[in-house]
Amino acid sequence: MVYETRSPKETFELGERLGLEASPGMIYCLEGDLGVGKTVFTQGFAKGLGITDPVTSPTFTIVQQYEEGRIPLYHFDVYRIGDVGEMEEIGYEDCFYGDGVCLIEWPSLIDEILPETAVWVCIEKNLEQGFDYRKITVEERQGP
Ligand code: ADP
Ligand code: MG
Repeated sequence: MVYETRSPKETFELGERLGLEASPGMIYCLEGDLGVGKTVFTQGFAKGLGITDPVTSPTFTIVQQYEEGRIPLYHFDVYRIGDVGEMEEIGYEDCFYGDGVCLIEWPSLIDEILPETAVWVCIEKNLEQGFDYRKITVEERQGP
């Protein structure tokens, strides 16, 4: 599915809709450049799960866990990861293969450990359409 948003609020609301539909064990890979709206999307998603705690990018901790919603949310931002060994250290497998939902910012940095099936959310700008325009492609991908 391809969506177009023209404000942070619209991206938040798309995230919220997907958060409402999410089920345990799902993994969402959020692709896109710095400042494109991955965290805004995650904040909406968290709201859709029923989380009221503020959601910020967990850049210095790699993962932030929220237990308050309908399903646990694990929000990864692996932008500053050195190597995949750091994912082992934080016990990522319990998050990826548990009963929660994972949202991963910068998934391509850890592609060797990504599960075969995931929902990819790719957010792109197009300055010809204005500063606040985003094209958001959501698709389930299977296999390596
Ligand atoms: P990322 O996590 O991808 O680095 P953020 O979500 O932290 O990016 O920031 C996105 C920035 O872009 C915010 O400052 C937000 O206000 C702005 N923005 C402008 N238009 C949009 C839009 N359509 N969707 C999402 N964010 C937008
Ligand atoms: Mg971010």
